[in-house]
Amino acid sequence: MSTPKSRMQWQALADSMSINGSAFIAGEYLDAQSKLTFDCISPIDGRVLAKVASCDEADANIAVQNARETFKSGVWANLAPVKRKQIMIRFAELLEQHADELALLETLDMGKPIQYSKAVDVVGAARAIRWSGEAIDKIYDEIAPTAHNEIGMITREAVGVVAAIVPWNFPMLMACWKLGPALATGNSVVLKPSEKSPLTAIRMAQIAIEAGLPKGVLNVLPGFGHTVGKALALHMDVDTLVFTGSTKIAKQLMIYAGESNMKRVWLEAGGKSPNIIFNDAPDLKKAAQAAASAIAFNQGEVCTAGSRLLVESGVKDELIALIAEELKSWTPGHPLDPSTTSGAVVDKQQLDNVLGYIQSGVDEGATLNHGGSQVMQDTGGVYIEPTIFSNVDNKMTIAKEEIFGPVLSVITFDGMEQAIEIANDTIYGLAAGVWTSDINKAHKTAKAIRSGMVWINHYDGGDMTAPFGGYKQSGNGRDKSLHAFDKYTEIKATWLVLE
Ligand code: NAD
Ligand code: MN
Repeated sequence: MSTPKSRMQWQALADSMSINGSAFIAGEYLDAQSKLTFDCISPIDGRVLAKVASCDEADANIAVQNARETFKSGVWANLAPVKRKQIMIRFAELLEQHADELALLETLDMGKPIQYSKAVDVVGAARAIRWSGEAIDKIYDEIAPTAHNEIGMITREAVGVVAAIVPWNFPMLMACWKLGPALATGNSVVLKPSEKSPLTAIRMAQIAIEAGLPKGVLNVLPGFGHTVGKALALHMDVDTLVFTGSTKIAKQLMIYAGESNMKRVWLEAGGKSPNIIFNDAPDLKKAAQAAASAIAFNQGEVCTAGSRLLVESGVKDELIALIAEELKSWTPGHPLDPSTTSGAVVDKQQLDNVLGYIQSGVDEGATLNHGGSQVMQDTGGVYIEPTIFSNVDNKMTIAKEEIFGPVLSVITFDGMEQAIEIANDTIYGLAAGVWTSDINKAHKTAKAIRSGMVWINHYDGGDMTAPFGGYKQSGNGRDKSLHAFDKYTEIKATWLVLE
């Protein structure tokens, strides 16, 4: 382990780095066909980091055609699983070797603290690639139970060309949750990063080639959703579309698939997750720490953010005071300072969204207990304080809509039934927390909640070994774990009758 860098050392590295904003097709860095670019602006200080290729339909056509030819050639899809595994593991190792560079790109591009870019994003991305690679030569197909003169083989095959459209909150991590199982199963991929955070995807494409991934297996098209994203979603030769992002765009992608080739669509979308704290929570201080981190980590730009805190009335006042105290350790700071825990919001537009929600909380009559303001304006960047509202009604805008910022809505309840009713009164169903010392109440509540993940006496747990995804309008299908492989494979039944 190298010694941690100081802010000045990170800044020096940033100043010396040349940043590539190109598209990556068939193993080559290219301009967009139109030659158009857009400015990649750092939310840390407003500095222009790079000119990024603004891809559109023309680039999508070239990339998909290339991905198709690469897939058909069998150069990756027909490679023995053990060989694909070796290249995936090498890819993960190289991501780890480039940890400083990738973490720095991520922090400069979307504003998260450098300590988490390194410890969470790069580590998690490498783990997703390695885990998927390690799994691929250990998964067996099936033989059906048949009569003596028959053989029924049930095999999984790569779907072919996968388009992956990902968001800006964990850019390389969300990309690698898709790339891991998509590549391991032998597909060719066209990855579209968010226009707000394209830099790590562009860099990772080259690293994958260095690891031995054949050219054309992983292509990256930076650009906007309504141009290149839409073109991929409408493309007649994309077999599967995988997405992480907002529920609004997720719904649009289902329409595009229906309007084009009925490509398979798998969606990880928004959330408004309840974190339920009963009077008999085993350790209120620990619950407060977790509740603070559940809303402040990554500037609240987390799909599983515990944005609705459901607190039983007996511990309400004590808990709010404890959370307010905890949030002091989440005061925004410069993202390149290694001790910073809260960084910049991704851009000015997102800052304005969050400030608009804070105003709506005040207007609709919630009590502002903590925070609520933009800070550090002198930096030229966009930063906001962690914010707590109490006396929130579940019908208020701040309780219903995903804010995707550090704004906690505290809702009071009495008894398990009311907690469950409020928890489920949402269009979303991504995650939930339950804090109680009563094992019966814990399990009954966990079973009753309509969400893909439930955490008991902690928040935001999990690993590559556990599926990640939502019920209801939080999406369909799962990232992570072997269940993720379902999205990237078709099932074939081959039936043989012996003479
Ligand atoms: P977004 O939906 O605005 O954008 C996501 C991606 O879709 C971007 O790459 C964008 O360019 C693209 N896109 C936009 N319009 C498009 C169109 N018409 N056609 C094709 N592509 C289009 O979301 P965002 O603001 O980048 O990310 C925040 C959202 O992501 C939040 O709602 C959050 O909950 C969600 N999210 C979900 C998970 C999860 O796993 N469930 C994880 C992280 C983020
Ligand atoms: Mn950016």
